[in-house]
Amino acid sequence: MRVAVIGSGPAGLYTADELCRQHGDVLVDVIDRLPCPYGLLRYGVAPDHLKMKSLESALRRIMERPEVRFLGGIDLGSDLGAEDLPEHYDAVVYATGAGTDRRLGIPGEDLPGSFSAKDFVAWYCGHPDALVDKVTLNAHAAVVVGAGNVAIDVARILAKSAGELRETTDMPDHVLDALDASTIRDIHLVARRGPAQARFTTKELRELGELTDADVIVDPEQLELDGADRAIVESDRVVRRNMDVLAEWAGRRPRGRARRVHLHFRRSPVAVLGAERVTGVALRSNGSNGVPVAGRGSAEVLPAELLVRSVGYRGQPLPGVPFDEASGVIPHERGRVRRADSEMSGEYVVGWIKRGPTGVIGTNKSDAKETVATMLDDRESLPRACRREPDAVLDLLRSRDVPVVTWQGWEAIEAAEQALGSEGGRSRVKITDREALLALADAVSNGGSNGGH
Ligand code: NAP
Repeated sequence: MRVAVIGSGPAGLYTADELCRQHGDVLVDVIDRLPCPYGLLRYGVAPDHLKMKSLESALRRIMERPEVRFLGGIDLGSDLGAEDLPEHYDAVVYATGAGTDRRLGIPGEDLPGSFSAKDFVAWYCGHPDALVDKVTLNAHAAVVVGAGNVAIDVARILAKSAGELRETTDMPDHVLDALDASTIRDIHLVARRGPAQARFTTKELRELGELTDADVIVDPEQLELDGADRAIVESDRVVRRNMDVLAEWAGRRPRGRARRVHLHFRRSPVAVLGAERVTGVALRSNGSNGVPVAGRGSAEVLPAELLVRSVGYRGQPLPGVPFDEASGVIPHERGRVRRADSEMSGEYVVGWIKRGPTGVIGTNKSDAKETVATMLDDRESLPRACRREPDAVLDLLRSRDVPVVTWQGWEAIEAAEQALGSEGGRSRVKITDREALLALADAVSNGGSNGGH
């Protein structure tokens, strides 16, 4: 059986792994738009979350299976069409994640100085598509909107010293230099609901209080709960732990550190202020459920020159593949893509593009299990008959002048990143320029034979 997995993040790789475990005779091509594998683990997980980052070695073992091949730098749609796939594969699994951001839908949202979390995270993670020239931390204050773990990541990276990050992470030097030069002193985290209804998990929240260079500031009044909130606190252990953490911070005296992280609950942005670029964010007051309080207008203005909108990600449609605009996912039944015309198209889906942008990396394991079980149940009735040799897809791509990054190509990139790191006494430094990545890979990828093993 020949399977193409589109996307080499954790969801795609757990699917490849599950296929190899459950099917004795399978060849899996893991195809990615980027020259580098690992998706959100490389380009989304915060660089200072070292334990989470160490999952890379487990994903590497999957990629090093003899049944799995990496084909990087290939865009589904322009380099390889959906119509090309049936000739080469019996089944296709879309594991493309949630590649864009939700919008706030307020005036000024697109002013210079206002970034989606997707773009801001891409910048500090050294993504090849990052808006490098647009990010500047020449600001006194930053506002981060959202009460999820991504908002916490952004606030924490802004609050940490570049020195700490340089020692332990693979962050690119241009990002560390910008953080080093940052003039930001106040970071405002703005949550539209009350503290009992925030989406943070306790471990991530707690990290804000452990920063060496920043005080965390919580007004005790913000922690007062209404009846509905009290019921949530009583019934949910995570929320109780979050409230304990917040209460401890509310009782702390600021220690005069260089930066301050302020938490604001029951506030929503109504406008981003500024003519040429962001100068502030106007907020309104909400009830604990995030709904505006009748009769109360604008609550306050937070002066800030940087805004990061961390209000969740959203899936993007793939050419020729069904897509539910309302929820931003590919419609499916237990992982089998649902098409109006044919039930059995040999297409499957996994990860955030299947279930929406929620859950931790481990959630993708059970998700992949479900999708692979469905595919294997369907095996006998799959319409696709794979007629070509495994290398035919490489020949097709090369005939189109697509520079395919093979696993050996990726290993050349890794070696170059380690060499770059050792020059500065670090274990590794990410290379971010797409052309540089492709050039490193090309030297070994496109002269060789099977591109994979
Ligand atoms: P999230 O957990 O869904 O949080 C999104 C936040 O944005 C929510 O607080 C939401 O509020 C708020 N929001 C949405 N629309 C808004 C609007 N128009 N105005 C103001 N606020 C708005 O998403 P995320 O933080 O992007 O994280 C995505 C997933 O990755 C989550 O499952 C997260 O736990 C996971 N993750 C985990 C880690 C980790 O384990 N260390 C790190 C990063 C991410 P409402 O609740 O009111 O909708």
